[in-house]
Amino acid sequence: MILLQTAASQSPDNTTASRLVGEVFTNGQQMKYLSMLSDGIGSRLTGSPGARRAEETMEAEMKRLGLANVHREPFTVPVSWERGTAQALLVSHGNRVLTVASYTWSPGTSGAVEGDLVEVGAGRPEDIANARGRLKGAIALATPSGLTLDEVIYNFYRTPDLARELKEAGAAALLIASDKQHAMLYTAPVDFNARVAALPTLNIAREDVGLLQRLGALGTTGKTLRLRLDVRNKIGGAFESTNVIGEIAGRELASEIVVVGAHLDSNDLGPGALDNAAGAAALMETARAIKALGSPPRRTIRFVLFTGEEEGMLGSTAYVRRHKDEVDRTIAALIMDVGAGRPMGWFSMGRTDLDDQIRELMKPMEQFGLGTIEHSAFAATDNAAFMAEGVPNLIMLQDESVYFTVHHTIGDTVDKADPRDFATCVATLASATYAIAEKTTRFGRRLSADEVKKMAVESKVDRQWRAAGIW
Ligand SMILES: [Zn+2]
Repeated sequence: MILLQTAASQSPDNTTASRLVGEVFTNGQQMKYLSMLSDGIGSRLTGSPGARRAEETMEAEMKRLGLANVHREPFTVPVSWERGTAQALLVSHGNRVLTVASYTWSPGTSGAVEGDLVEVGAGRPEDIANARGRLKGAIALATPSGLTLDEVIYNFYRTPDLARELKEAGAAALLIASDKQHAMLYTAPVDFNARVAALPTLNIAREDVGLLQRLGALGTTGKTLRLRLDVRNKIGGAFESTNVIGEIAGRELASEIVVVGAHLDSNDLGPGALDNAAGAAALMETARAIKALGSPPRRTIRFVLFTGEEEGMLGSTAYVRRHKDEVDRTIAALIMDVGAGRPMGWFSMGRTDLDDQIRELMKPMEQFGLGTIEHSAFAATDNAAFMAEGVPNLIMLQDESVYFTVHHTIGDTVDKADPRDFATCVATLASATYAIAEKTTRFGRRLSADEVKKMAVESKVDRQWRAAGIW
């Protein structure tokens, strides 16, 4: 064996990063937090008893960790929603039972409705225009694809208009094909800001979509496909949800804030382990590991567990509004919301001026494969409101191959997190957070309103902000 060349002596910052990374890999509590939220509590739909329990549990846990200024900040969600039963029968073919689940904030059918099935392709505007003449009283079936981040974001912003266009054309309900394996159903709010969807909207198992398409195409029985739906969701008035906040106060520049954010809420068909108990757990372990260093960094780190994310980033939008006077002093917002998959780098959200600083952040984790900066900008998680204010905002770039197979389904459970990959995520978050808070110079500047506008128009993120009511 040959002797390895001795590594160059490390700077003090690198030593702290090594201590943090070591702390996470040896004593990390992220799997415990993940299990506490997704096994112990379960689904955490904003406003539900599960979400409430998660807010209270994490507030207590932040206090136990010795974080400063631990509190919960309320914001109003305009409409409450509770899942009821949803039944779908293929009445034209022996009353076969179809596997469906309501989208959240979808209205019920007010009694059973019956209609002919009309396929509307992927549900793009041209598909609806083509089917327009056949939609009166129909039950529309859309088959979009949602297996990549780009597709998920497209659907996220397309579905509210799809439901509205179908309603205008006289359709009675909307079925959306699940793109998940093995009869797993997907759910999400159809519209933003907890607005009730224009039509009863249900997800339907892909196996049943295949059946309907074969029966329709083969025409073996010569009959039109006719469905009966009975959906009984409960819709109610406004309610308050809360963001959970705790801090590690900076030792020199306490008024300057590094925000670490992740959403605590989930959808309700599964326990939301990857989306996003993982992000919340990583945030909690980041707080614990940095506290364990024994001395705080130069700047304040503020840990924020948002709720209302699934309904259109409601908690993070409310947070940025409420803390408007601190935006200039908010150095960066680091967000995690792509599960527990292997980290590869950071999304810079349309910024190219931060490349050198981001490369610096990734250095302690280089040997784990970190090194990618993805410049694209999108508004699909809690970074959006920070981005609209010009605050440097980064989302951890992760391997999303497991994440999107179970996203918003019953299958989003703790076993989908690989403990080694997840520890690498947490170490990435902890070391980056500390580095930004400790840096002698500011991590990056706040963009001016004009610069934000230019970036938003170029990346087309402005349309997303408008749809979500952020802009
Ligand atoms: Zn999420």
